Amino acid sequence: MIQEFFHIDPYIQKMAQEAEELCRPAFQRIDENAEYNGCKVLSAFIKKGVSESHFAGSTGYGYGDRGREVLDEVLAEIFGCEDALIRHNFVSGTHAITTALFGVLRPGDEMVSLTGTPYDTLQPVIGIVEGSSGSLKEFGIRYRQLDLLPDGTPDFQGVAQAVQGAKVVYLQRSRGYSLRETLSIATIQKLCQLAKQANSQAIVMVDNCYGEFVERQEPTQVGADLIIGSLIKNPGGGIARTGGYIAGRRDLIEQCACRLTAPGVGKEVGCTLGESRELFLGLFHAPTVVACALRTAVFAAALFERLGFQVFPKWDVPRSDIIQAVRLGTPEGLVAFCQGVQRGAPVDAFVTPEPWDMPGYDSQVIMAAGAFTLGASIELSADGPMREPYAAWMQGGITWPSGKTGVVLAAQSLLEAGLLQPQ
Ligand SMILES: *Cc1c(COP(=O)(O)O)cnc(C)c1O
Repeated sequence: MIQEFFHIDPYIQKMAQEAEELCRPAFQRIDENAEYNGCKVLSAFIKKGVSESHFAGSTGYGYGDRGREVLDEVLAEIFGCEDALIRHNFVSGTHAITTALFGVLRPGDEMVSLTGTPYDTLQPVIGIVEGSSGSLKEFGIRYRQLDLLPDGTPDFQGVAQAVQGAKVVYLQRSRGYSLRETLSIATIQKLCQLAKQANSQAIVMVDNCYGEFVERQEPTQVGADLIIGSLIKNPGGGIARTGGYIAGRRDLIEQCACRLTAPGVGKEVGCTLGESRELFLGLFHAPTVVACALRTAVFAAALFERLGFQVFPKWDVPRSDIIQAVRLGTPEGLVAFCQGVQRGAPVDAFVTPEPWDMPGYDSQVIMAAGAFTLGASIELSADGPMREPYAAWMQGGITWPSGKTGVVLAAQSLLEAGLLQPQ
């Protein structure tokens, strides 16, 4: 069908069709999870009595904003936990995670990561990199980490020892920009159990970015005390224009709220302007949108593997996040891939991405992004550093036709660049 609207070489058409056939059973599992999670979300909306009046925004201090309060209750219900803080005021996922860390940690406390070095933007927050002003380290909060094993899996044997004396035990669910496995909910459950057996007071905090609604449960349903994420990823459903959330134990959410606003006022303030309706609507759409992103990722894995590239993860393995890495192997391949993805974007398709020197990176980076929301990675996007293994990390796709088209055009772009040998 795509070829009616886009120029696709017959070889790519054939490979794409075969890849899609191969993915049918995986698509079915994805759709079944989306149905489960969609019903989970719907029943939370009904149970908490979401009403049109909740969409009216407040101004100023935002006292008594029922929409804000009900949205918190709905999110907590969906995630099976006591309370939540879902706000457009979080400027990013990093900001929400930072709020949670500073919310619960005090000078002299210790935090331990059980999943190796955290995501790049968290490193200045913790104080792992030199010269970051206002880091946890500057406030006298110590940091340790338990590295992942050489095969990228958690070091279960090392957990009991590692969590001794720690106030916060930190897990990162998604792979981020590495080629390790994403933590499944079952693995998160096991890590929570091991951590709490050895240190019952520990607060288990999970960076849940890119993981929401991929499986049927969230980390808060298997032992995590706090989970955190971004609304321009999965739970914003491609509709929220900004924001983030923290969800979990009531006492901890109160501490986080006092850090987000101010001690003494906590959750009682924070006007919603006109944002509440979009946060409700985005959350409502999220399970279906996440399913589109997952189909796009699985399809990309199948197609590019058939075209002779290494892909992580493979198309048929169970997933716990929406990220797909494709190892192009050459600088030209990475550039052609990203340029192809860009050609299928609903916004800015006429732009040609080029590698550039991005602040904070030691090699050039290329990015394809043509989104309704700047930086939204629930919308189809792909990027990668211009160095070995010349891999593209792609994620998102808020509709299946656009996700599939972006992936097929990436293959077409490689063919046009002479980087594929049709057989
Ligand atoms: C996206 C992401 C974050 C937060 O990043 P922001 O760009 O600040 O929203 C944190 N951890 C992981 C693993 C992520 O993927």
